[in-house]
Amino acid sequence: MTQTPSPVRADGTGAGTAPPPAARGRVLLAAPRGYCAGVDRAVVAVEKALEVHGAPVYVRKQIVHNKHVVATLEGRGAVFVDETDEVPEGAVVVFSAHGVAPVVHEQSVRRGLRTIDATCPLVTKVHKEAVRFASADYDILLIGHAGHEEVEGTAGEAPANITLVESPDHVDAITVRDPSRVVWLSQTTLSVDETMETVRRLRERFPQLQDPPSDDICYATQNRQVAVKKIAAESDLVIVVGSSNSSNSVRLVEVALEHGARSAHRVDDVTELDDAWLDGARTVGVTSGASVPEILVQDVLRWLADRGYGPAEEVVSAEEDLMFSLPKELRRDIKAARAARR
Ligand code: SF4
Repeated sequence: MTQTPSPVRADGTGAGTAPPPAARGRVLLAAPRGYCAGVDRAVVAVEKALEVHGAPVYVRKQIVHNKHVVATLEGRGAVFVDETDEVPEGAVVVFSAHGVAPVVHEQSVRRGLRTIDATCPLVTKVHKEAVRFASADYDILLIGHAGHEEVEGTAGEAPANITLVESPDHVDAITVRDPSRVVWLSQTTLSVDETMETVRRLRERFPQLQDPPSDDICYATQNRQVAVKKIAAESDLVIVVGSSNSSNSVRLVEVALEHGARSAHRVDDVTELDDAWLDGARTVGVTSGASVPEILVQDVLRWLADRGYGPAEEVVSAEEDLMFSLPKELRRDIKAARAARR
């Protein structure tokens, strides 16, 4: 799903072309950035559920890992809960883009909840891989972060077969039942480079390790990392807009630093920016994680402009046009609501 990078700016100039003069410095704006197809679908799912069913609509966990998105939906009548037992029986509940374990579906059925599953289809793909390899009695080495909702959901598909591998340093402690039947899968929002290092170390220990049928790290994560690499080497400072619990936003800071940025900071929004970061910064890179509305990036660009930076030069490394259809339960509800109005 990663598309061929072409370091061309939005104005058609190449990455090495001199920028227009600016009083204090340049701004390089990474593209793609911000909302991915899975996040867009999940947010729209909650909005549509509110339209069709009215408030309150319950949402298990943060629908996407961005506190502004969550606050906006709360303002429209969404109620965020940690577990389904907090949802009144018979109420509408939306499952987040990160996915849930089968046991959560079972709990919802027992409580008579009307479920809308906004799990990103690319997370569902990993779930299906886990089920398939577990039914073939493989040991599954799941590369990901302990406690992340996506990892809990995927691991819940085959808890007896899945071992979590958090980093290359954890590889030595891994044991498997049969080294000839081992496969690795991963969380969708990891650092591509670190994951490949973990896989390299795993393969040293288990030479017959199988790869996933297709990339588990999703197109959006990969594209945003490629995009930040393109601007990092030229940037004295990289600003990543994204929440602290957004795995792909946190990875963008790490990737920027690994690829030449002199400094990099993650901020939830413009209010967290610090003038001191601009000391000696001639070039500022800006990007955002896959769960971040573009309006928050535009606020950052205005803040920089107020301090003499810019105009922003967009550095485009891939085009994205992927869209997912809404969850089928919601499409059914929308259709029924339209029919009832006729
Ligand atoms: S980051 Fe990737 S896996 Fe996660 S919601 Fe977006 S497209 Fe789906």
